[in-house]
Amino acid sequence: MKRAKLHGVGVALACLTLTCAAGAAPASGNPQADAGMLGFAARGAAQESSLEQRFDSLLSAADMRAWLKRLSSGPNQVGSPHDKANAEWMLAQFKQWGWDAHIETFDVLYPTPKQELVELVAPTKFKAALHEPPVKGDRTSDLSGVLPPYNVYGADGNVTGELVYVNYGMPDDYKELARLGVSVKGKIVIVRYGGGWRGLKPELAHEHGAIGCLIYSDPRDDGYFHSDPYPQGPARPPEGVQRGSVAKMQLYPGDPTTPGYASTPDAKHVPVAEAKSVLKIPVLPISYADATPLLEAIGGPVAPESWRGALPFTYHVGAGPAKVHMVVKSDWNRQPVYDVIATLKGTSDAGQWVVRGNHHDGWVFGAFDPLAGTIAELGEAKAMGQLYREGWRPRRTIVYASWDGEEPGLLGSTEWAEAHAKELRQKAVLYLNSDTNGRGILFAGGSHTYQHLVNQVAAGVTDPETGASVQKRQRAFLDVRANGKGSSPTMKESAKLAGATGDIPIAPLGSGSDYSAFLQHLGIATLDLGFSGEADQGGVYHSRYDSFDHYIRFGDPTFGYGVALAKVAGHIVLRTADAKVLPMRFGDFSSTIDRYIRALHKQADEARKQTQAEHKLLDAGAYRLAADPDHPVAPPERLSDVPKIDFAPLDAAAKRLKQSAQAYEKAYEARAARGLDIPSPQLARVNELLGTMEQHLLDAQGLPGRPWYKNLIQAPGELTGYAPKTIPAVHEALDAREWNRADQYAAVTAKVLDGYRAQLDKLTALLKG
Ligand SMILES: [Zn+2]
Repeated sequence: MKRAKLHGVGVALACLTLTCAAGAAPASGNPQADAGMLGFAARGAAQESSLEQRFDSLLSAADMRAWLKRLSSGPNQVGSPHDKANAEWMLAQFKQWGWDAHIETFDVLYPTPKQELVELVAPTKFKAALHEPPVKGDRTSDLSGVLPPYNVYGADGNVTGELVYVNYGMPDDYKELARLGVSVKGKIVIVRYGGGWRGLKPELAHEHGAIGCLIYSDPRDDGYFHSDPYPQGPARPPEGVQRGSVAKMQLYPGDPTTPGYASTPDAKHVPVAEAKSVLKIPVLPISYADATPLLEAIGGPVAPESWRGALPFTYHVGAGPAKVHMVVKSDWNRQPVYDVIATLKGTSDAGQWVVRGNHHDGWVFGAFDPLAGTIAELGEAKAMGQLYREGWRPRRTIVYASWDGEEPGLLGSTEWAEAHAKELRQKAVLYLNSDTNGRGILFAGGSHTYQHLVNQVAAGVTDPETGASVQKRQRAFLDVRANGKGSSPTMKESAKLAGATGDIPIAPLGSGSDYSAFLQHLGIATLDLGFSGEADQGGVYHSRYDSFDHYIRFGDPTFGYGVALAKVAGHIVLRTADAKVLPMRFGDFSSTIDRYIRALHKQADEARKQTQAEHKLLDAGAYRLAADPDHPVAPPERLSDVPKIDFAPLDAAAKRLKQSAQAYEKAYEARAARGLDIPSPQLARVNELLGTMEQHLLDAQGLPGRPWYKNLIQAPGELTGYAPKTIPAVHEALDAREWNRADQYAAVTAKVLDGYRAQLDKLTALLKG
């Protein structure tokens, strides 16, 4: 799994990735002086550079190709023999490379399909195949043991109902449906993939009264509209199906029956019927070959223009006369997940950990998702093992993890993080994640205190296609997108900021990969990395056709970007592990907070303006006059006025934070100018405080209604799924038009920022002292 936007298609994908970065751009007007390699004195920096050169020379594209072929040679879903064999094989590799490694197992709720049926019962009859046939030239596509098309954590059910087409099935689509006078109550909805997180589609359908949900892949979104279908081209073939989780991960990820604690043998389990992250209606993913007869049989109003896909008939909304019978029955068993955990022990700061992870389970073979990331991680581990053999010893302990059970719901990483919560809060200074990987532009998201490190590293790694640095390519991409066709104000602003600060801004993180438990539950500083934009994997995402053969044609044929990811991730791990002072900067963080707060002001202003405009239309009777007998427009409900939101505490906290961040940078620069000459007890204290900074962004109560998510700066949106919300408690209160709640959480967030600042001030005093 991965950010939904990464699985959009083609060019739009990279564009979205950096639009996302645009949202995170810091507004620092004065570029911070670059005092050399962050966290190192001059001599240490020179040594580190030559270590990195040696590290790079040990990375091998041929290794990565062979590993990908091996790892993706059988179906890799949770519980499959091949996924387990992969974990055991990786364990043996880590050991052979000199790492201290073991497998940690958790038993988790993992349903698998026993019975699946989708049939059109009226006005004609048709039975969906629910099967992906082998394709020519794809060597694994005829293997058995593959999980059939399935949405894990949907409910069991045997339902019959008229069909309603609801476009992407997102909140705005239901508003449009209401305007068309169509209800989904007691009906089965059919929605297409895209437009928002998968799990939200059946959940919103259920909230609106639907009894079942079918999710299909329209060729408009990742099929022949985009490119030739596989195997001629990369796009989704007619029978290709996107599997995926529909757990309510915006409430909590991990085993649905152990919310907030690890699924260890003695753990108490919530009964499945009471597990809040499991859905209440049956849901199945289908191909457009299976969806075509169903959609074609729908009557009623013609679908609005933006709802129409690329299938060769007129799209109607319904309800009926198409009537569908669907059955889903699952085995609600528990299955073991196998996390591979490998350690290289540190020296003087062995009590601080740099944790690196990527998952190894896939929906089927998973060559792109996740194994293209796994092979980069393995490359790093092999090279580090060799450096260790040659005498290098990291200052801090390095922990490499290969997670299982990410696809169903971040199971392996969440259970591990919950099991080791206390130790991680004490020791983990950074969690570095990757997942899918392809060709193109580096995407980076996460904690802004590490933004400058990412930029320093990206400036030192060469892009395999252009020969420019990875960072230069990011900048060029941003400039071209910002000034070219289809640019947006955010993109322009982002490019401007990248020019002003010299650094490419990193994005905030929502959910959709294994970083959630670290960043959003435990408050460990986090980075998420990957290359994207050019590789064309969207059309085989989570299908049988995400295979080695597809990847070597359309993904990263030379494995140049596997090596590039290993360089970027490896250098970040090495520098964080070896730095004298943890390589963090706070001006980047405080200017990002300024931007997030400005966005809240703007959001409240917009809500006020829109409400006033709506009131004006209502008062003038415009909705009545605009009525068209064919397309009646019901007047919206009269919205309450938007009061003045009390952002003052938040504004003041941000101002204080900025001053403290500047003071820290000044104190750090003064120390750096003297070769970071900090006496050791004091240095240990500095690193200890730096390593736990992110934890001060947590609130013990968590976000309203979802206490598992404790980070008050970044979280997955309650109604967006994967996509991030910044300062989420306030942002979502404004979204919900709950003005008192917005006031309340502006104050709570301000208090959290003040706590963060207090620790930053302690750090500054130590650096000065
Ligand atoms: Zn993945």
